[in-house]
Amino acid sequence: MKRIHLLSPRLANQIAAGEVVERPANIIKELVENSLDAGSTRIEIDVEQGGIKLLRIRDDGHGIPKDDLPLALSRHATSKISTLDDLEAVSSLGFRGEALASISSVSRLTMTSATAPEEGEAEQAWQVEVEGREMAASVKPAAHPKGTTLEVRDLFFNTPARRKFLRTEKTEFNHVDEYFKRLALSRYDVAFSLRHNQKVIHSLRPATRGIDKEKRVAALLGPKFIDAALHIDSEAAGLGLTGWVGLPTFSRSQADMQYFFVNGRIVRDRLVAHAIKQAYRDVLYHGRQPAFVLYLTVDPALVDVNVHPTKHEVRFRDGRLVHDYLFRTLHKALADVRPDHQSAPTS
Ligand code: ADP
Ligand code: MG
Repeated sequence: MKRIHLLSPRLANQIAAGEVVERPANIIKELVENSLDAGSTRIEIDVEQGGIKLLRIRDDGHGIPKDDLPLALSRHATSKISTLDDLEAVSSLGFRGEALASISSVSRLTMTSATAPEEGEAEQAWQVEVEGREMAASVKPAAHPKGTTLEVRDLFFNTPARRKFLRTEKTEFNHVDEYFKRLALSRYDVAFSLRHNQKVIHSLRPATRGIDKEKRVAALLGPKFIDAALHIDSEAAGLGLTGWVGLPTFSRSQADMQYFFVNGRIVRDRLVAHAIKQAYRDVLYHGRQPAFVLYLTVDPALVDVNVHPTKHEVRFRDGRLVHDYLFRTLHKALADVRPDHQSAPTS
């Protein structure tokens, strides 16, 4: 009979990594969310070979103190919450303290960081490097301005079974690009850039004015969408909805241009999807899909984001209220559109 024993931390992390890290794109999401949580204003992403060879995320956020560097790589280590009450009203994108532990267990990871120097002290950066291990990382001096750079190389080099599930460089990059769009659409005030094999794919400046936000949307989703979109800006019953919805003239054959954010976090939610579908029911041809980029704001206490490790799902305390609000707001906006906008599908 086999006896029970505790998994080694490394194996436990590798197993947990299965929940958040399926491919390079998931790593981009986790690392950029960390950069955003660190208050960065500029995030630069470099990708080689679809992200399988290298992912590098560089930010100008508050950085990580030297003594915290090895800890950041261990499981259940986070600076973002300390009590259950914090979790109830969590405003950071991360809080589980799992991403870096998971990622470092299935790749070769280097983390370099510098915090703002104390008065009278010189600027000093520190670096940790791990190879698919559970920490025991040594910290050495490095050069880096205030902020953090994460380099993730050779994804799944030590888990060949997982590596087999990676697709071609091109497919993996397409996933990276898609996650990049979601992230860049989530924070207009932050500058983002993305390069693939040294080539600049996106370079986005911060956008505060409406017109600049529309430019960013056009850069990411194409000018056709924004030219054929209604601007939404509504507030009622403690809920807010802003963004753009495609006119019925801009319907799609697939649900490939649908971005819905709840308090800045991209989510996929059946209740939300249903409300939007209903709102379009009378104006879209059967089988056509609407395009939208929408931002819902709701009291953080009325929505639970800790439903799944990837946090792609949420649970609303009052789902009915959210559903009705979305439906009414969008239905009205679409009904106000002049009928000559409602012509044949284009894509
Ligand atoms: P979580 O984001 O859930 O806290 P992570 O494993 O993603 O867990 O990160 C662990 C910790 O490392 C974070 O709580 C944060 O303190 C620190 N950290 C990670 N990335 C950055 C970054 N880019 N800038 C500053 N701190 C970071
Ligand atoms: Mg995180």
